[in-house]
Amino acid sequence: MTETFFKIIQQEGKGRIGIASKDFKPYELVLEDTAAAFGPFQDAESICVACLRDLSAVEICRHCHLPLHQDCEERERSVHGYECDIFAKLPSDYPHHGISGLIMPIRLLKLRNTHPQLWKQVFALESHHESRTGFSAGHKSLLSQLGFSDEDVEALEILTGIVQTNSASFGKKRGMSLGHGLFPTFSLLSHDCDSNCRYYATRESESNQVIIQVRAKRAITQGEELTIQYKNPLLGNVVRTTSLQRNWLFDCQCARCQDPTELGTYLSALRCRRGDCPGKILPQDFYHISISVDPSLWYCSSCDESIDSLSVETDLKRFDKLIRATSCLESVTVWEGHLEAALRVFAPTHYLVMDITRVLIQLYGSLPGMRLKDLSSEQLSQKALMCQEYLQNYSRVDSGYSKWKGRIYEEYAGPIMILAQRAMDQGKMSPMEYKLEMAKGMNLLKDAAKCRQYETGENFSIAFACLLKEINDLMKVQ
Ligand SMILES: [Zn+2]
Ligand SMILES: [Zn+2]
Ligand SMILES: [Zn+2]
Ligand SMILES: [Zn+2]
Repeated sequence: MTETFFKIIQQEGKGRIGIASKDFKPYELVLEDTAAAFGPFQDAESICVACLRDLSAVEICRHCHLPLHQDCEERERSVHGYECDIFAKLPSDYPHHGISGLIMPIRLLKLRNTHPQLWKQVFALESHHESRTGFSAGHKSLLSQLGFSDEDVEALEILTGIVQTNSASFGKKRGMSLGHGLFPTFSLLSHDCDSNCRYYATRESESNQVIIQVRAKRAITQGEELTIQYKNPLLGNVVRTTSLQRNWLFDCQCARCQDPTELGTYLSALRCRRGDCPGKILPQDFYHISISVDPSLWYCSSCDESIDSLSVETDLKRFDKLIRATSCLESVTVWEGHLEAALRVFAPTHYLVMDITRVLIQLYGSLPGMRLKDLSSEQLSQKALMCQEYLQNYSRVDSGYSKWKGRIYEEYAGPIMILAQRAMDQGKMSPMEYKLEMAKGMNLLKDAAKCRQYETGENFSIAFACLLKEINDLMKVQ
């Protein structure tokens, strides 16, 4: 079932766009769409290709040798059957990662015969096929070996482009998406770095279908263009614009992408390397923001110091690698060390500094011996300040109810309430001030729940569970 409260219009210079056909309140349903096909990500490991759930042991399909639960062979025949017959022609030791990228396009190709109307809709989607590198000679010969005609191979190439341009990911395992689906109507929504909608895709256990829901992130007025984020807004311009160019082949024209300061947040700025100069190093203009495309110089805002963009890229990669390589359960001291090192290179609001800050926000109050009740009032104030600054900075570039905001609201509420409780106990706060602070904390928790209400398969963080318990305990003491 596809429900729509919007219309698709043709706009000059932009192509087809979705327009709200009524006013929407935050979180109202804008669109529900069913996947024409879904499949595993090319690099997803130990995932069943049919149900996309974890494989606890090495289990493979007896026919095609792709990773598959034994009981999914029969149960998921409608999902896996078509490609299973095709890949069964390959030798048993053929590396499956070499063909997993073909699963989605092959599942879509099946629609040509089974669902001609849906096929037309899918095949008309943007593929940027002419600007992408097509299949290698090796891939082409493999496909013909599997029985595909030249015409099929060409269709599969276009479908690969359609999947790369339009698919939406769902499911998470250790921060990585498990699979992606292609949603024909949803695919018509454009990108905006500060979008007015967000989406949630899930596989429904009853229907076995993957459904995507698009909901308003903030109030939307009738006639407004409906937009989603193709790329995480918590990344700096450099990474976002480069990825938008590489994967979706367009230059984002939004105010943030055009502005090297990113609307005054300095999410990509570096520290000036000249002694005590307070300036920030920034790319000179929008065209020099994406460094891999066009190496250039970045300049200090206060002196004549400049840095080669390739050296900026090296710093970004070095810290990105460091952050990824460090477990979130690593000690606070290690993460504080990372923060100190990052602050020597980047401006205090750089997105990588903010990434480390987010980990520290979550660690203060959740590690054994460092639960909220164990923290000193200075540490609690520090955590509250970090939350406040994080919210202030990112809210300027990403408005409305978002997932990251929910997480920070959760973390922010605890210190406020515990600090109020301590101040009250020590007679340093009037009952009126106490009530106001507690109400502020409760409102943050309510907003956190609002931000996360439609997230499925995601548990509230351990810190949140601990916080609720601590607040409960506090209330009981009273
Ligand atoms: Zn399975
Ligand atoms: Zn199979
Ligand atoms: Zn943008
Ligand atoms: Zn300087």
